[in-house]
Amino acid sequence: MSTTPRLHGGNAPIYDIRELPLNLTANVPDGVLWRDGDDTYSSRFNSKNTWSNIRKKKDQVMWSRLIWFQQGVPRFAFITWLAVRDRLSTGHRTAQWGQAQYCLYCGKPDETRDHLFFACPYIFTLWLKVTGNLFGMDPDPDWDTTITRLLTGHYDRLTFILLRLVLQVTVYYIWRERNERLHNHVSKPVEHIARLVDKTVRNRITSTRYYLRPRLQGLMQRWFGAHDT
Ligand SMILES: [Zn+2]
Repeated sequence: MSTTPRLHGGNAPIYDIRELPLNLTANVPDGVLWRDGDDTYSSRFNSKNTWSNIRKKKDQVMWSRLIWFQQGVPRFAFITWLAVRDRLSTGHRTAQWGQAQYCLYCGKPDETRDHLFFACPYIFTLWLKVTGNLFGMDPDPDWDTTITRLLTGHYDRLTFILLRLVLQVTVYYIWRERNERLHNHVSKPVEHIARLVDKTVRNRITSTRYYLRPRLQGLMQRWFGAHDT
């Protein structure tokens, strides 16, 4: 039996359903099956497999391990994810709607992602303070250089956890403070934000119960050691 597409007017190929072979087993009742994988079916619904079947799959991006890691915190990860994709509504992006814009920290005319993280001289002072010696060299004010260093540098496990954590917490507080300055016209000094970042990272380290986990032993000491100046 042929299953060659038939052309019904125009160029649209349409299979004639009556010509498709259908093997019915007379004694088995009809039932509904859920597609489980490419060629597998199951009578039970599995949300994970179903989602995996219908979602659009893309290659994992290089920077994903900077965003999602076990010791991360979703609300910090989310803002950092937006920053990495340059999707934060910075002045530079909202300027297309005709709004005047400038950096709310230093007053420079163009508020871009790269200026906020971490080229702005005020913010870079904060970045130097909170990273301490974690990079093993002086931090760079350039965003791309920072991300490349994080992805390609050779860091021990504890240092790499802390670098990702301090990146995310800092991006979060810089963005939050920027919004406070923009919408509520109140501003905290940069030293105050640095203390907030430090406290938040320490709280997160404590909540990992690092002292009970062999792979995380020394996490807090590493954080303190990085800021021993
Ligand atoms: Zn600035």
